Amino acid sequence: MKGYRPVDPRESPRFAGIKTFMRLPHVKTTEGVDVAIVGVPFDTGASYRVGARFGPEAIRSVSALLRHHNEVLDVSIFDHCSVVDYGDLPVNPGYIEDSYKMIEGGLLPILDGGVTPIMLGGDHSVTLPELRAMAKTHGPVALIHFDSHTDTGDKRFGRRYTHGTPFRRAVEEELILVDHSIQAGMRGSVYSRDSLDDARKMGFDLVTSVEAQERGIDELIRRIRDRAGDAKAFVSFDIDFVDPAYAPGTGTPEVGGFTSREALRVVRGLRDLDLVGFDLVEVLPQYDPSQITALLAANIVYEFISLIALRKKYESEG
Ligand code: MN
Ligand code: MN
Repeated sequence: MKGYRPVDPRESPRFAGIKTFMRLPHVKTTEGVDVAIVGVPFDTGASYRVGARFGPEAIRSVSALLRHHNEVLDVSIFDHCSVVDYGDLPVNPGYIEDSYKMIEGGLLPILDGGVTPIMLGGDHSVTLPELRAMAKTHGPVALIHFDSHTDTGDKRFGRRYTHGTPFRRAVEEELILVDHSIQAGMRGSVYSRDSLDDARKMGFDLVTSVEAQERGIDELIRRIRDRAGDAKAFVSFDIDFVDPAYAPGTGTPEVGGFTSREALRVVRGLRDLDLVGFDLVEVLPQYDPSQITALLAANIVYEFISLIALRKKYESEG
């Protein structure tokens, strides 16, 4: 198929060249593009460790390892999908409201061009302006949220916009179809007895890590699919869903999480859903000298692209 595709690693070694995601062409157009990788290097919303501003470059760097055929999903991605690295959206470090406008404004032309965006965060505060842009283009979407935290707090340090509050704001602003939305992976100590119930009262279905681990990943996948149904869905994946043994480079780690294998399995399980956007957030490369966190993040993004390619493959086969 015609379209944008990465450099062939058998022709040019993988350590060579300027680092884009999977060594894709860096192109700022939507013409002839199905999927765009978009960096959002912003971490002013973080409440504990900072450094997710360096997430996109770390994920891009290690993504050079990825090959073109997804063996598990049986799809040769670039035979079905034209993919580019769109570069980073503009942000203003230290100024969250300004950055929200820049992120939303930067994303709109991509969405208006009919392109499926995959954002590399950034801390989790960036998902709110992403959802604002998604809602303008697609209307409210189902949210499929993987995280060890609900991120449905009201205020942090007296402020409404932080990485602990985006999903409460998204409900208030009616950016998501809360009846079709689900949060999975919550664990660790919480602020109070009603912390998780708060999210449920907002209308989210919520599956804790303990519950998902007791019932198994396939049951979690079923629950997500039932919940999202035919709605257009946005997937937001906080890397701290995964146990810090596998993903130590993150801002607010919680023990007792999922393995990298389980994370890949649950993402592949989203294959039949109508997915219109994705993000992968909270990678802090400086807390992980081995860069296994960025490596896992790159592989999860690879599965996101594969899901879109798989759908296009099925469509072309009728
Ligand atoms: Mn989060
Ligand atoms: Mn989290």
